[in-house]
Amino acid sequence: MLSKTIEQVERVALRLEPGRAKRLLGAIPNSTLEAMQRARFRRTLRLAAERSRFYREQFRRRGIDVSRVEHPSELGDFYTTGEDLRAQGGHNFLTGRADTAYETTGTTSPVPKRAFFSRRELDEVGRVCALALRFLGLTRDDKLMSAFDCSFWVSPAVLRAALQYIKCFHVEAGKIEPLDFYERALEYRPSVIFGEPSWIVRLAEIADARGAWPVKFLFAGGEDIAETARAAVDRAWDAPLYLNYGQTEAFGALRVECARRDGYHRNDLNFIFEVADTDEEGYGELVYTTLNRDVMPLIRYRSTDVTRLMEEPCACGLFARRIGKIRARCDEMVVCGMGNVGPWVFAEILSGVAAAGADWQAVVKNDGRRDVVELHVETEDPSRRAELELTVRARLRERFADFWKNHEMRLYDLEVVACARGSLRAGRKLRRVVDERHMLMRQVI
Ligand SMILES: [Zn+2]
Repeated sequence: MLSKTIEQVERVALRLEPGRAKRLLGAIPNSTLEAMQRARFRRTLRLAAERSRFYREQFRRRGIDVSRVEHPSELGDFYTTGEDLRAQGGHNFLTGRADTAYETTGTTSPVPKRAFFSRRELDEVGRVCALALRFLGLTRDDKLMSAFDCSFWVSPAVLRAALQYIKCFHVEAGKIEPLDFYERALEYRPSVIFGEPSWIVRLAEIADARGAWPVKFLFAGGEDIAETARAAVDRAWDAPLYLNYGQTEAFGALRVECARRDGYHRNDLNFIFEVADTDEEGYGELVYTTLNRDVMPLIRYRSTDVTRLMEEPCACGLFARRIGKIRARCDEMVVCGMGNVGPWVFAEILSGVAAAGADWQAVVKNDGRRDVVELHVETEDPSRRAELELTVRARLRERFADFWKNHEMRLYDLEVVACARGSLRAGRKLRRVVDERHMLMRQVI
């Protein structure tokens, strides 16, 4: 009942101009929102316990009686992890008939995580995203061009679902060469451009050199961005670049920035967020529970992203509370211009190339414009560096077509650094992938 009412409010809000829509949504009392969340959560939990093989077995083994649970935090130390999803396979999570699936690849393992959805869910997530885009100023009169990668990735589908509500002109370019995109975009002169951050940065370099047209905003999803690079994009187009943060498992719609760009507004209509293992500043791993999924609900899913919940209201006036910027990832996966890379990627590239027992470490930096992946490899003979680099590039081209494609699009630089044997390992455990960009990301605009 409450869910239906809120759905009606969402639909009405979509027809109003953004200021009035914000006031309408802001008028929903917090207690109503929380009651709706609790009702949706209880329904989700019962569904999972009854129909999902994975959850039924987990709850049975742990003696969890779901009829007594009112909020995810009452589930103690029970969590769902990406590893569960990978090991068990998405089908063991299913609670209903799936209409579609998306995959997330290149994490800490070559095995993809698969997430299943229904068309109704796609429509619902599209409606919430349409609202967020309306608040950023997207209207029916805009012309939108997207360079999102359509291969197995959920975001292009969510965007299309959102545009069913906005009804603006839309051209789907796919993730093509930024220069090719620029030249073809001249025909349409899109007022809004969508793409991955590193791709958008490269497009901005081209616009800087060749000239920009009037753009209302740019919108990036899929990875984080250094604030210096974001500022360069803003300057090139004289328009703001907004970031969205999602995960395939969450249907790509966890949260989105508002015009203030101070944290992400979270999607409290579709998720309950918690933070696990918090430090003294409140930072910990973001954990979410889905509230409106019938096909593959997730209970306390560990996102592996370290952030904090921001309860204080945002100056933009939007009712939805916020999540801070991502500080780090708990696993060693790094999302950068190269793609989603984890230790296994570099291990594969270096297998049989580096001498037996030689250590290696990948360090991801940002030179202020683009990401730089420095692959440090221990070698007996540092004069072999150039030869090593050639082999690494050849391996990358042969075995990781997507990562190579991003390299050819100049979304990142790859450098091989030769190190002396025994120089990389200071402790017992060597961190294989190190993300050094976070200091830069925390800089204020
Ligand atoms: Zn805001």
